[in-house]
Amino acid sequence: MKFSDFGFVNTNEMLADALANKYAVPAFNFYNFETLTAIITAARKTHSPVILAVSESAMKYMGDDMLLGLMTGICASPAEQIAIHLDHGRTLDACKHAIDLGFSSVMIDASAKSFNENIKLSRDVAKYAHRHNVSVEAELGILSGIEDENTKSSNSSYTDPDAAAKFVDATGIDSLAIAIGTSHGPYKCKSADEKLRFDILNEIEKRLPDFPLVLHGASNVPQEFIDIINTYGGKLHDACGIDEKQLKRVAKTNICKINVDSDLRLAFTAAVRKVLQSDPYIFNPRDYLTKAIKYMTKICVYEITNKMKSKNKI
Ligand SMILES: [Zn+2]
Repeated sequence: MKFSDFGFVNTNEMLADALANKYAVPAFNFYNFETLTAIITAARKTHSPVILAVSESAMKYMGDDMLLGLMTGICASPAEQIAIHLDHGRTLDACKHAIDLGFSSVMIDASAKSFNENIKLSRDVAKYAHRHNVSVEAELGILSGIEDENTKSSNSSYTDPDAAAKFVDATGIDSLAIAIGTSHGPYKCKSADEKLRFDILNEIEKRLPDFPLVLHGASNVPQEFIDIINTYGGKLHDACGIDEKQLKRVAKTNICKINVDSDLRLAFTAAVRKVLQSDPYIFNPRDYLTKAIKYMTKICVYEITNKMKSKNKI
């Protein structure tokens, strides 16, 4: 099916508007009914454009048929500006598969490969995707941390601004994910005052004016969830995210898509741990999953309103 049959849009128009009006479109990851419900509810409540991000492992977890059912169940309308996006696609085949399924946007992440191999693969994906009116994001630079079994790295390297300009020109992609000091997972820093490299971002903006940039690994890991998790049996003692003030600053730059995954995972886990431990007699999963949806919706609304500033943009 084509993405327009589901009422989805690609990310070109939404990112162009975010770029022109100095805000960021949130990309939240979903992998089941509960995460999807929370994200969609929050986006509709705040009248925000939204990118529904699905990783390859999340696609595997849901299975194509169930995922198609969820995509249909959203009942999206183009006026709502909802995109569905493959997060960290690793191969041309993975991107083709997502596009054929009805995705409106894909990311090809060949950032671990050599510069020339990254260019070649990203260009091939862009050619295929553009034939289907699907937008393409690629990545240059390496983020450390663990997102899932497919996306992990123990080292990092910042994006080289000159290479970024050359890369965009050579590939024909629509947006570029850059590395300026964020990382995947809930352990992003040793202390809360670690700084993102705005100087590098600035240099990239100079070389690529009016081009949408993307920031991954940008959860701020709210302490309230860490506290709940640890109070109710968890052991996430060194969890630490990106300082919110810096993320607010990021949203005003040419970074117009900000990815958030860990914050929803933490909200989900905090809710389930709290409810199960507070009431040992509970055995109906809907009792704690309802709470999980509520916590996740709340964090999405908060981030849309305070961090991305994408509220009331549609
Ligand atoms: Zn990522």
